[in-house]
Amino acid sequence: MRRYSVRHAPAAAGALLLFLLVVVAAANTDGGPLDAWRLAQDTWVGALLQGPGPRNAPGDVRGGRGPQAAPGPLRGVHVVVDPGHGGRDRGACHFPSALIEKEINLDMAFRLEAALLAAGATVSLTRRDDTFLTLDERAQLANERGAHLFISLHVNRYPSPECFGAQTFYWPDSEESRRLALLIQEELLPLYPPNYRQALPGDYRVLRATHMPAALVEIGFVTSPVDRELIARDDYRDQVAAAIAAACIRFMRGGSPRRGGRRGRGALAGK
Ligand SMILES: [Zn+2]
Repeated sequence: MRRYSVRHAPAAAGALLLFLLVVVAAANTDGGPLDAWRLAQDTWVGALLQGPGPRNAPGDVRGGRGPQAAPGPLRGVHVVVDPGHGGRDRGACHFPSALIEKEINLDMAFRLEAALLAAGATVSLTRRDDTFLTLDERAQLANERGAHLFISLHVNRYPSPECFGAQTFYWPDSEESRRLALLIQEELLPLYPPNYRQALPGDYRVLRATHMPAALVEIGFVTSPVDRELIARDDYRDQVAAAIAAACIRFMRGGSPRRGGRRGRGALAGK
């Protein structure tokens, strides 16, 4: 497929916007504006030409690897992005709002892929379409490919509509996964300041079975009217993707979360 045709201009513009969001987030964290500018000089051409990954790479439906990465702070870093659920497993849904978790997760995965590619990472998705995968297959793909990071994307639900806020989970026995999750949570909180949630340990199978630093991000509660409004918005989804990518950059630079987080009771769920 040719990459320079006019009909790819919106994709390129989208990638650039995502990249700028990552740069802004990075500038607010470890690097500072100068670093961010250097980063921009290094990567903007690549981000422009690259565009987001193919929505359906022919013959590469499962575990599809996206296009070649641009130069950038995540060059040489392989991230496996895991859109939760798929196929017969719809996940958490709110039908009146047409919010279906498996669809939201896949859309988020493409946005995160674009943000990571713009930062120079190599990215694989566990699924690139509406396919059912077991939890072990997802983890296995990341292990087999020797990924450096694993990010699983989900939407939360809870009986009470009062519960809101994006939240990140990690496998409690992995210090590095905890650092990654805390960094992601730190980047997510400013997106919706009333969000007070902290990263927590979680007994999720994909986190337990992966052999690299891994985090599971619940981008919001489908049972919360506040979160439903956020989750439905393109700009919120892009900001979440940029925040996760910024956290990956901080993680790979060896950054520490500003606060230690809380070692509270973990979540128990079949993910
Ligand atoms: Zn889920």
